Amino acid sequence: MIMPTPVVAIVGRPNVGKSTIFNRIAGERISIVEDTPGVTRDRIYAQTEWLGRKFNLIDTGGIDIGDEPFLTQITEQAQIAIDEADAIIFVVSVKEGVTDADEKVARILYQTDKPVLLAVNKVDNPELRADVYDFYSLGFGDPIPIAGTHGIGTGDLLDKVVDTFPNDDSEDIDDSIKFSFIGRPNVGKSSLVNAILGENRVIVSNIEGTTRDAIDTKFEIEDGSEFTMIDTAGIRKRGKVYENTEKYSVLRAMRAIDRSDVVCVVLNAEEGIREQDKHVAGYAHEAGRAIIIVVNKWDTLKKDNKTMADFEAKIRQEFQYLSYAPIVFVSAKTKQRLDRLPELIQKVNKNHEQRISSAVLNDVVMDAIAHNPTPTVNGKRLRVYYATQVAVKPPTFVVFVNDPELMHFSYERFLENQIRDAFDFEGTPIHLIERKRK
Ligand code: GDP
Ligand code: GDP
Repeated sequence: MIMPTPVVAIVGRPNVGKSTIFNRIAGERISIVEDTPGVTRDRIYAQTEWLGRKFNLIDTGGIDIGDEPFLTQITEQAQIAIDEADAIIFVVSVKEGVTDADEKVARILYQTDKPVLLAVNKVDNPELRADVYDFYSLGFGDPIPIAGTHGIGTGDLLDKVVDTFPNDDSEDIDDSIKFSFIGRPNVGKSSLVNAILGENRVIVSNIEGTTRDAIDTKFEIEDGSEFTMIDTAGIRKRGKVYENTEKYSVLRAMRAIDRSDVVCVVLNAEEGIREQDKHVAGYAHEAGRAIIIVVNKWDTLKKDNKTMADFEAKIRQEFQYLSYAPIVFVSAKTKQRLDRLPELIQKVNKNHEQRISSAVLNDVVMDAIAHNPTPTVNGKRLRVYYATQVAVKPPTFVVFVNDPELMHFSYERFLENQIRDAFDFEGTPIHLIERKRK
């Protein structure tokens, strides 16, 4: 049984301080590995941890539901929290006291059994503490006074949040390959899920996650290899107003990415590449997952002998940071090339968890340096002493040098390419980190 990372959602009417609190909790801990073009920076989703417990945080205030009226917006956001989260932080503001909109949010949150922690924000000074008691009337127990802008009380709040998580003593003994299809609405994710399951033997269906709607499916291919398909689109809450908003589909994608070893970024051949495709792919890349680009609905195109090469060239142009990702052209409808997908997933997963011995790695690195000498900056030459792999998923290499400042971006790229030429890292990002040798 897989124990998914708990999800915590922040809800509340506008202006109570949700995004301030989100940034306070998630802020410094986020490391954006590379600047990926196309990734929007207004974050609504972050991985973080408190007291060693990892969790994912959602700022529902950042999910705008089209042109809906104010009250619909906040009720939809509260609904998303109920649907997506394992614990909810309900934020109110001590400055305005209990408002009608707060009560509206409260009424929606009454409908869930999930733990709701009531955070009274903007308690900037001790005098305001007396006013916190008013919020007992909302019916969520002890209000927790905090001040998001100063970070006061957020530690107490997080202690209580973490207390609601189930005990994390279950070891993940499931060694099936976890993968997902992500992409904007209508590219064919559900159709691909159904087509793949139709072709293979489903061994354990519907593994329930901690959240009610996260349902994964485990299946086996002919050679006995096991896969777990992480649900994104399969179980949809059809008819929910928020379902077709871009932010919501990005949120679903990010949750699936988190839980996957391999992410299949699905494009729609019929419609070509859209801006939203780049956002979704950018998140998978930044998360360091193995990636396959799946071009679906290949049956809809009138093809000649250049169609595939042209499409591929366009993808390489638009997704330059995904140069390592293989591309497959498939059709969920006709099942064309779908049988190749599990093997490809298996292959990129293997590359994603590949370990290279230091001896072999250093042969490659030293050879590269011998052929293309290290750069000099202001008369000072970069010296590379030693390289070693420190992590997998994705493969991460530390390169010990005399001075990390001397490692030029283009030289790092050169070393990465040499490593890629020597070993098969197709489908996986690799990270190089320079360290000063002590
Ligand atoms: P959201 O709409 O709920 O996401 O609220 P924001 O995080 O955008 O905050 C709304 C306003 O409240 C901003 O001007 C914040 O600077 C302010 N704010 C947030 N937290 C605090 C706080 O702890 N004390 C005070 N005085 N202002 C705060
Ligand atoms: P999702 O929103 O990404 O899950 O997309 P769906 O799986 O719901 O598919 C959206 C629409 O595209 C549906 O009408 C599908 O029947 C259609 N569709 C999906 N895959 C294919 C395909 O390979 N070829 C064609 N012609 N239509 C497809």
